[in-house]
Amino acid sequence: MTYDDKDCDWFCDNCSVYMNNQPGFTTSSDEWTCTECGYVNDVSEDNIIDEDDNQGCSEGYSDGFTCINCQQSLRGGSRTLPWEDDDNAEAYIICPHCGCKNIENGDED
Ligand SMILES: [Zn+2]
Ligand SMILES: [Zn+2]
Repeated sequence: MTYDDKDCDWFCDNCSVYMNNQPGFTTSSDEWTCTECGYVNDVSEDNIIDEDDNQGCSEGYSDGFTCINCQQSLRGGSRTLPWEDDDNAEAYIICPHCGCKNIENGDED
């Protein structure tokens, strides 16, 4: 990591190649000519894309889960912990879209 890449990963707007490791790469002049395709990229602060904005934070337990029945996200579904119902050995999430019960596997800590 060098001081002049603004701590960002830079990719060519034209050919999407990773530019930080191109010979002599610098953002000091606010533009960089891609050595792969010759496209002049804007590498100024204004052009920094905050990837966190695109992906969002994973706050919820169920962000990574999709319903086994309708394949929609289980975000917002109600979760039942193991044995909370007295007879369920595994936690499950009720799909907020179709009501299907989704068993949580491989998460037994
Ligand atoms: Zn390029
Ligand atoms: Zn569903």
